[in-house]
Amino acid sequence: MSWNPRVVISASEALAEDPDRASSLVDRARVEAAVRELLIGIGEDPSREGVVETPRRVAEAYADLFAGIAIDPVSVLEPLPDERGRGLILVRDIRFASICEHHLLPFIGSAAVGYVPGAEGRITGLSKVARVVDVLSRRPQVQERLVRQVADALEEALAPSSVAVIIEAEHLCMTMRGVRKPGSTVVTTEFRGAFADDPGARAEVLALARAGS
Ligand code: ZN
Repeated sequence: MSWNPRVVISASEALAEDPDRASSLVDRARVEAAVRELLIGIGEDPSREGVVETPRRVAEAYADLFAGIAIDPVSVLEPLPDERGRGLILVRDIRFASICEHHLLPFIGSAAVGYVPGAEGRITGLSKVARVVDVLSRRPQVQERLVRQVADALEEALAPSSVAVIIEAEHLCMTMRGVRKPGSTVVTTEFRGAFADDPGARAEVLALARAGS
């Protein structure tokens, strides 16, 4: 992928220890000025009582929604030092919300992320698997890339033998604008290793991913 996020801080620094730092890359003053301009652009009066605080609120919301730009997803997936694993590890029903980079509107759904540890048996905490989806969602995104980036982060952090990422989401840029009826969803998948090569293994992981929803 040619797209590279700016990585300046690790996830533990950014999310656990100092949540404010996670948002530090978002220039709130600049976002505020842009939203004021946007309100004028759509024919609103930015001094109208109802919207006078809107630029500040949007800047605050964006600092949170785009906090993942500053976080290295691989740093989220620290291998457990004393644990080794062998079989499939699958975390499903990981709820997430992201922002489509084409329209800056949300897409909201759930992810299933599975991997089979590689020769070294490296595994990570189950909550870390959910966290990497969260970190990669908090960026301007497209769902097709999100599945690949989750798989890339797992491969880099854990060197697994196989990876499966399945995401289903509703895109408000589709459902709000009348292109499709509300409730229609988009499914994207990324399969690597045995899940790419072996239809039986792929069918099995797909069945397990869906069993929870
Ligand atoms: Zn869109």
